[in-house]
Amino acid sequence: MRVKKVDHIGIAVRSIEKALPFYTEVLGLPFLGIEEVESEQVKVAFLQAGEAKLELLEPLSPESAVATFIEKRGEGIHHVALGVEDITERIRELKEHGIRMIQETPKRGAGGALVAFMHPKSTGGVLYELCERTNQTEGHQ
Ligand code: ZN
Repeated sequence: MRVKKVDHIGIAVRSIEKALPFYTEVLGLPFLGIEEVESEQVKVAFLQAGEAKLELLEPLSPESAVATFIEKRGEGIHHVALGVEDITERIRELKEHGIRMIQETPKRGAGGALVAFMHPKSTGGVLYELCERTNQTEGHQ
């Protein structure tokens, strides 16, 4: 298992619009863009924080996993994304170690990255995302 870096930290917010000034004006982080990830029913905004990024996640519907998270635990840190290569191979390695995956095959996340989440019951309560950045900018699947 090789982790290249912490790619980003996901933060659940009720409203990106309301949360954003803290990050851009108070912390002075460069705003990288905003997009909707239909499959997850979330709106996502990225900010650059040195080597890593912060990913603000706003639920687009009450069925979104992020909406459930905010309802149960309030706004705050949602997941930590580890940057990897060959994500399919990394998933295989994790499963060999008995780690439960939420996705056994990677799916397209924000920015066209390939992502898969580990089950927090297998990781001491942290929702970890594996994230492989491909050169592809567009094109789902
Ligand atoms: Zn993420």
